[in-house]
Amino acid sequence: MLVAVLGCSSATSVEVISTPLAEATTEVKIDAPAPTKPPTPAAPAGNISTESPSLATSVARADGLLDIALLDKFIRCAMGKPAMAGKTDCTLEPAIERGLFATGITPRFPNNTECRDIDDYWGMDYSKKSKKEGSYHGGIDMPAPFGTPIYAAANGTVVGKFLGDNNLRGIEIVLRHSPQDTGLPVWTFTQYTHFSEMPSQEVGQRTRMGEFLGPTGNTGISIKTGKQSETRRPAIHFGVLYNTNGNYAVLKDLAIIPEDGYWMDPNAFFLVDHPFNTGALKALPDNDKEVPIPVLLDDGNTIPSATKTVWPYSCSKGDAGTTEPTATPTSTPVIGTSEQEEPSWEYIGFTHAPVDFTQILV
Ligand SMILES: [Zn+2]
Repeated sequence: MLVAVLGCSSATSVEVISTPLAEATTEVKIDAPAPTKPPTPAAPAGNISTESPSLATSVARADGLLDIALLDKFIRCAMGKPAMAGKTDCTLEPAIERGLFATGITPRFPNNTECRDIDDYWGMDYSKKSKKEGSYHGGIDMPAPFGTPIYAAANGTVVGKFLGDNNLRGIEIVLRHSPQDTGLPVWTFTQYTHFSEMPSQEVGQRTRMGEFLGPTGNTGISIKTGKQSETRRPAIHFGVLYNTNGNYAVLKDLAIIPEDGYWMDPNAFFLVDHPFNTGALKALPDNDKEVPIPVLLDDGNTIPSATKTVWPYSCSKGDAGTTEPTATPTSTPVIGTSEQEEPSWEYIGFTHAPVDFTQILV
């Protein structure tokens, strides 16, 4: 699989990005305050039924996709700086203002399951690793063996696919989720990267929670060499962005930028009736910072049985037969199974190679 990926390295960076709408003439208003309880927006493409894929595709492409020029520089810097990797004069402040900083939130998986846990956590300070100030991790990483299936974390619509052959993230897909898809009061965008193969879903296609997206890989360049990294451990980088209306723009060849968007600690994506604003999460008492995570089991069931979101890796049952799945996980976190397995890769201690410019690593 890796060989096939390396074969893609000479291709262009974007595989499938829909054509922006005809140029809009109105200016997009960007308001700064972070919404903790924004109004539930109207639901356009996010609720399109999978029964009519052609309609879903056309609506998704026509609805909510803005010309990148309509997003002001603050938002482009805040949400796009990681993807622009040195090709921008953006500072880190806009991203921090939009929620990119550590919260201390950790996942708690259901009793008697073995799930793939985080190693590089949300908002992790990469400054020492990159030997530069102001480098923060814009997602969570879960290591897993090559080929481990990655699943859609919720019902949604594909809004972006990137070959990523000229950035750190490698092969990537981005899904957009309506409030109805997730139970959250905002539109969310989930980002899955480092696949060894490009997911087969098309832009505009509806996806279902737990749907197979693609196999785990380690695609993405090494800053040192400018080529596909050969030493990075296979893992998913899972990132979440959000806004109030589901509108977005495509930063050419690089990233999806939600209009008036914010960063979300990915752990918060799995919680309903819970703060998702980074500042509110950080302010939680320490004993509230371990949060229950709904999961997909290898047999296709979920814990709890009724959930709108699942961890992007499936979990296996541990100590089978001792306990039935519970709707309210109560155990201490289960260490990721990858730690018990013989690694087929060399773990070099961090996900991303050092960079020679100040940036947010993803
Ligand atoms: Zn990462």
